Amino acid sequence: MLQYLTVPVTAFQQNASLVWCDATSAAAVIDPGGDLDRLLAEAERLQLRLAQIWLTHAHIDHAGGAGELAERLQLPIVGPHEGDQFWIDGLPQQSAMFGFPPAQAFTPTRWLHDGDTVQIGQETLHVRHCPGHTPGHVVFHAPQIERCFVGDVLFAGSIGRTDFPQGNHQDLIDSIVQRLWPMGDATVFIPGHGPESTFGRERRSNPYVGGT
Ligand SMILES: [Zn+2]
Ligand SMILES: [Zn+2]
Repeated sequence: MLQYLTVPVTAFQQNASLVWCDATSAAAVIDPGGDLDRLLAEAERLQLRLAQIWLTHAHIDHAGGAGELAERLQLPIVGPHEGDQFWIDGLPQQSAMFGFPPAQAFTPTRWLHDGDTVQIGQETLHVRHCPGHTPGHVVFHAPQIERCFVGDVLFAGSIGRTDFPQGNHQDLIDSIVQRLWPMGDATVFIPGHGPESTFGRERRSNPYVGGT
């Protein structure tokens, strides 16, 4: 069975998530934006063996701690899609601009593409490429528990910003409607910021994509 725990990190209170296979205790951390000691303490408390870093996109609040964590524990960095290469290259400048501790650029061990899968222990998650907020944004879908880790694509009552370089509003709407909604109304999503919701609830009431 796949389990997860979401831990808000950084001044942005970004949702980092530990996801693990409880048959093997193998764990991945999704979007370690910072506060690495806090994330590692949670992993230890849960007696998990942290094995991978998965990234939805390369904004500082999501990827700022990835390079350091990979180096400290010798972990592979999986994702995002290579459309976010320029954001990764810009991590040191992003950290200075937003007052974050120095963040290092890195080269992902593996870029992700639409239709890929990622594996942790005995559990498999499905990758969808959801550009718009950033060109290389991906989401991680776990149909076995009806959950999806969507980063900054969709929030409870809102959607991701598209006013950054290479952001694209129409791409974002298309990603949500064509790639998230088919996962089903009952699917609970874990956004990059704020509380969880379901795709069904957002389809009904989200002011940006309700009624789509
Ligand atoms: Zn973002
Ligand atoms: Zn964010």
